[in-house]
Amino acid sequence: MEQQLVYSFGGGRADGRKDMKNLLGGKGANLAEMAGHPDLKLPVPPGFTITTDVCNAYYEAGRKFPDNLEKEVASALKQIETLTGKVYGDTANPLLLSVRSGARQSMPGMMDTVLNLGLNDETVQGVIAQTNDARFAYDAYRRLIMMYADVVMEKAAGIPPVQGKGIRKLLDEHLEAVKKKRGFQLDTELTEADLRQMVTDFKAIVKQEIGQAFPDDPMAQLWGGIGAVFDSWNGKRAREYRRIEGLPDEWGTAVNVQAMVFGNMGDDCATGVAFTRNPGTGENHFYGEFLINAQGEDVVAGTRTPQPINDYSKNTHSESLPTLESIMPEMYAQLDAHQQRLEAHYQDMQDMEFTIEKGTLYILQTRTGKRNGTAAVRMAAEMYQEGMIDGPTALLRVNPNQLTELLLPRLDAKAERAATPIAKGLPAGPGGAKGKAVFSSEKAIEMKRAGQDVILVREETSPEDVDGMFHAAAVLTAKGGMTSHAALVTRGWGKCCIVGCHDLDINEAKGYFATPDGQKVHEGDWISLNGAAGTVYLDQMPVVDTDLADNEAYQTLMNLVDQTKVLGVRANAESPDDATNALRFGAEGIGLFRTEHMFYGKGSEKPLHLLRKMIISDTEADRRTALDELFSFIKADIKKTLSIMDGKPVTVRLLDPPLHEFVPHDTERLRELAKELGVKVSVLKKRVLVLHENNPMLGHRGVRLGISYPEITETQVRAILEAAAELNQEGKQALPEIMIPVTCSRNELEDQEKIVQRIYDEVCTARGVDEIPYLFGTMIETPRAALRAGPMAEKAQFFSFGTNDLTQMSFGFSRDDIGGFLPIYLEKGILEADPFQVLDRRGVGELVRLAVERGRKQRPGLKTGICGEHGGEPQSVVFCHRIGLDYVSCSPFRVPIARLSAAQAAIEYPRD
Ligand code: PEP
Ligand code: MG
Repeated sequence: MEQQLVYSFGGGRADGRKDMKNLLGGKGANLAEMAGHPDLKLPVPPGFTITTDVCNAYYEAGRKFPDNLEKEVASALKQIETLTGKVYGDTANPLLLSVRSGARQSMPGMMDTVLNLGLNDETVQGVIAQTNDARFAYDAYRRLIMMYADVVMEKAAGIPPVQGKGIRKLLDEHLEAVKKKRGFQLDTELTEADLRQMVTDFKAIVKQEIGQAFPDDPMAQLWGGIGAVFDSWNGKRAREYRRIEGLPDEWGTAVNVQAMVFGNMGDDCATGVAFTRNPGTGENHFYGEFLINAQGEDVVAGTRTPQPINDYSKNTHSESLPTLESIMPEMYAQLDAHQQRLEAHYQDMQDMEFTIEKGTLYILQTRTGKRNGTAAVRMAAEMYQEGMIDGPTALLRVNPNQLTELLLPRLDAKAERAATPIAKGLPAGPGGAKGKAVFSSEKAIEMKRAGQDVILVREETSPEDVDGMFHAAAVLTAKGGMTSHAALVTRGWGKCCIVGCHDLDINEAKGYFATPDGQKVHEGDWISLNGAAGTVYLDQMPVVDTDLADNEAYQTLMNLVDQTKVLGVRANAESPDDATNALRFGAEGIGLFRTEHMFYGKGSEKPLHLLRKMIISDTEADRRTALDELFSFIKADIKKTLSIMDGKPVTVRLLDPPLHEFVPHDTERLRELAKELGVKVSVLKKRVLVLHENNPMLGHRGVRLGISYPEITETQVRAILEAAAELNQEGKQALPEIMIPVTCSRNELEDQEKIVQRIYDEVCTARGVDEIPYLFGTMIETPRAALRAGPMAEKAQFFSFGTNDLTQMSFGFSRDDIGGFLPIYLEKGILEADPFQVLDRRGVGELVRLAVERGRKQRPGLKTGICGEHGGEPQSVVFCHRIGLDYVSCSPFRVPIARLSAAQAAIEYPRD
């Protein structure tokens, strides 16, 4: 059978279904579902969807439509004509159409919509006769020219913006000029004669600027629109968006063609956007905005302040505006009934578009609504509690990375109370941010690349701004509502955003904005935003962490997580503070305690001094003297952490970095140090010279230190075991795991094990105890260690994969210098992702898998975990689950992400 290229819907039936997203795109599949599913049969204007396969065929054929398409479109068009009783291109009774793109997933950056197709100088007369409203007809006509010229003739065709600003802007300027000349404030004040003239003017401007005439033939318009949707799939902005989101090029887009319905035929008409639950907070309440006498684009464009659909949806700007519920109660009641059915049917929050045309309500679109992290967690938890969805579904609903938002820093409340906002807009959420104000997307990218945090300030954003928005810490716009481009895009990313900040007078060209009281904020000036309250402040405000304990939805979800996941989640913690944080985030232990951290930062002066003394010692005796002094510091540090983690394992890694990292290299500081240590500068210099290495990452570090200087291992092991013995005697349960870093052979482990065993016996005897529970194990960070996992496991009771070093040594890419070539590798598609962030499953992952297999063969109970940066990255966590690791360990802040990823992995890949 020939492949079906076009799927019709309308009149209570449809060819497609909601599960056909790959073929019909998200929008097309949902239109079919709403129109045809027996539980719904909602009032959807009839139409048809051209499949994503056609898009791919179009590209394969060198931008040509497949042979059968024309025939199938003609017959689908016939169906719309039958259902509406109108005829496309007919001068007496014309049907008007809309064309919209629709990929599997909604994609800002692609062609969105062209409305009112089918209008020309003749058919417009038919519309006047049908509606008895010439003003409306000419308004529809000028809108068609504007949209068509913008999205079909310019953007999709890839023509660079005319006069540097684009045809839409030029036409808009013309419209504004006419309004000004006529002394009007609003578009709605323009008369029929104004609009009729504007149609003529617009056509002339288009011809002059683009060099092509606006097509009068309705069929040419329709095919122009269809082709433009396909072309926009490969437009610069769409490709950019796909790159950022990691979406494949092969998906293609569908095209949706639908009969027009009008929300702008008078004050008994309206159009709006609504969500079945609040997408900003997750609260279970119908929420939305609408405009009287407007088309959908007006709501999204943010040129007029939208009205709330009900009292619940009111905000600072719309407080005093009448609600849909109050002015059109019957329509509101229908809409409310539809939204309830939609949510029950899809079992998820829906984002819907509706239009009211002279007392008839139409649903134009439904899709699963974007939501920020806070809302995602609340909706998943509450829908689960309501019995709408089961536990696994609730867990799969939240993107683990979205949890970051709940843990996201906010503006410090105390500092905020003490400050006065310079402006207030709509809280598109979430969290708080500070950054330097920038006024263009390019500047945002440039400054971010130079390492500066920026906040993108725009009149309003458009798909051209997506890259800049991505690079900005937050986005602030003067125009737009909660459903504007800026709000939608940032919501998808969980980025702080304030929209509709009318208080600001923004001059993008000159790079500043002015506040109502005349203050000017220039490019590069610091500002701070509270995305949850919509408040803007001058200067840098401190940003602080949030408290999860009183977030009920989060607790519900995380309880589900813990009942579901199999993989353990520990934290990498280097200080008692970190350990406390790790517990707060639900860590089940510490997977990596890097001992050297006591020599960096706050409180490190004394231990660092003693360490340096040890480093410059020439003889074992001198080294031992210095180490004896250092001992109490090491022990105290470890004991505190073991005590906080009472009853939970703590993997203490012995000293790893090469010793020269701890001594200064410039003469001035060497002189100071010599004085401090009471040695001659020349002696110190000689010692530093001896320590110098050409390739320290592959040098005298890790276990090699412990082998060269056994007393370093001895001191650390004694500190660990004494701390543990004392805690156990104090009634706590210390579970230390002694971990040897950067190993590559069994013999190294054997050497260190002997030391550990000897010290263990000594401590037990000295303390008069029979036993101090501990484990002895190693990091697997070199490819050889992974390959020799069998013999290594003869000695090691556990393996912890140090995938930072393992990645470095497997690829031969320096951890510290990959930035020099990584962007090129990513751009050329040689690498799919930064291997230091996302575990390279094929290479490094294979070494891990192999090592686990070989290690467990030797020692069946071998405990295995991962403690490289990958331990908190969702895809890598799933991999760790699949190859049977016991736990992952990551920075405390990422522990919730790892826990949720582990639960999702358990659902998708159950272990036997
Ligand atoms: C590793 O190499 O993965 C690791 C955790 O150790 P470090 O980052 O300290 O080298
Ligand atoms: Mg390492």
